[in-house]
Amino acid sequence: MAKQDDSPRHAIIGAGMAGILAGIRLRKSGKAFTIYEKADWLGGTWRDNRYPGLTCDVPAHAYTYSFEPYPEWRAYYATGAEIQRYFERTAEKYGIMPHIRFGAEVTACVWDEARSLWMLTLASGETAEAEVVIAASGVLHHPRLPDIEGLESFAGSAFHSARWQDDASIDGARAGVIGNGSTGVQIITALADRAAHLVHFQRSPQWIMPVPYFEYGEEEREAFRRDPALIDAIRNDPEYWSNIHRFTRAITDVEGPEIALIEKLCLDNLENGIADPVLKEKLRPDYRAACKRLIYSWCYYDAVQKPAVNVEREGIARIEPEGVRMKDGRLHVLDTLVLATGFQADRFIRPATVKGVGGVSLDDLWAVRPTAYYAVSIPGFPNFFMLNGPTGPVGNFSLIDIAERQWAYVEQLLDLLHAGRARAVAPKAEAHAAYEERRIAAARTTIFGSGCTSWYLDATGVPASWPWSYEAFADAMAAPVMDDYLLDAR
Ligand code: NAP
Repeated sequence: MAKQDDSPRHAIIGAGMAGILAGIRLRKSGKAFTIYEKADWLGGTWRDNRYPGLTCDVPAHAYTYSFEPYPEWRAYYATGAEIQRYFERTAEKYGIMPHIRFGAEVTACVWDEARSLWMLTLASGETAEAEVVIAASGVLHHPRLPDIEGLESFAGSAFHSARWQDDASIDGARAGVIGNGSTGVQIITALADRAAHLVHFQRSPQWIMPVPYFEYGEEEREAFRRDPALIDAIRNDPEYWSNIHRFTRAITDVEGPEIALIEKLCLDNLENGIADPVLKEKLRPDYRAACKRLIYSWCYYDAVQKPAVNVEREGIARIEPEGVRMKDGRLHVLDTLVLATGFQADRFIRPATVKGVGGVSLDDLWAVRPTAYYAVSIPGFPNFFMLNGPTGPVGNFSLIDIAERQWAYVEQLLDLLHAGRARAVAPKAEAHAAYEERRIAAARTTIFGSGCTSWYLDATGVPASWPWSYEAFADAMAAPVMDDYLLDAR
């Protein structure tokens, strides 16, 4: 980024949903920015994940930028391919494409104190400068492969769900899926009618929340095109928002009526949705609902009762060339093995090296757990802001809404730089420490900390998430507490 004048340059890392958002906002206000994207195309998680059955379980009209409603969604829940097209189209429409540098992996960001700017190094060895870094590098980004003996010996094709192989034998073949988070469940529902034999390997059964599903016909889409108020009505649907607020009350009040209702709805779904008593018991969770991310599905229980599908709850002993050997000695012979085993959720911008004031690295600061002040900024890392960074809300929310609220917060800090009132802004260490102390104490009492394993937990077993209500998050993002920030005046 060439320096034209005195105004700050912005380096956005990642051209996914949050990076495109930051670009659109900066372009609107006429600021200089470059988006560095390590891959050769935009879209982040929606570019990487192409597995059959991929949908977003947030209603499509709520999983859109607030400023860019989209009348074309084809169903209440959009497919991954549609969402990817939405981001491509939106990036084009808002003139973001010329600002994206593809194949540009940022490997280091080092704060130059004397000049109050970040020195970026790319994988190519090229360097760049920017006064501001926006880390929009995603959360669920680095696949986590299971530590199962013999995985590499498998003779068929084995691959992670986020690295879908189009030429894998599925139709009429013998396939297995390890993992039953949101991903594994969606893949099973899509393959149940395609594979001749499909095994769902479940280490822990899931709570399945029944949800409505319906398609939007051409007539409805035409009505959305003609009258955007119809889309607003869906986005602002009081029932949708009261569900969000009820869900956060459920998360934060583990003995309250809201979580009891969620558990009842899911258990009724299991009771009424599964006919075979043996299968019903296999699918019954033995931990609290919403402790792991709740699965929203309108078709999983139908899928697992199809003749080709076998739910396997016996532990896996090892993987052999022919298939998966269970602890009781049985062998599932497979042609294809899908590893829907999740992601390393504590990486964020890493493995890039990020060094702030005094050369302190993010790896050092995050030795125990990734953390950020109100999930956005980090003491000692001036002008470094994260979207969907550590300790933000997790659960069944629209990450777009979360990123937009975070951007509104970041923008108020950037205003200080743009107005020339400061060269650098970072949260005070004591403000961050107080935030983390309160957050950790509250996080331990959330449903996420009620005794299950999940990607929500940090390495010490503490939920790594926002532990308060969604309203509290919205309020916190509405206006930064400026006294909690250190300004390096010009
Ligand atoms: P995940 O929720 O982390 O689930 C990983 C699954 O793999 C779990 O069932 C886990 O079992 C299992 N597993 C891991 N290692 C294993 C091993 N060695 N042996 C046997 N089983 C193993 O990952 P994910 O399903 O990819 O979902 C991650 C997140 O992506 C979701 O929580 C959600 O936030 C997001 N997502 C969202 C949507 C959407 O519709 N919005 C769709 C897909 C994904 P245990 O439970 O026993 O650990």
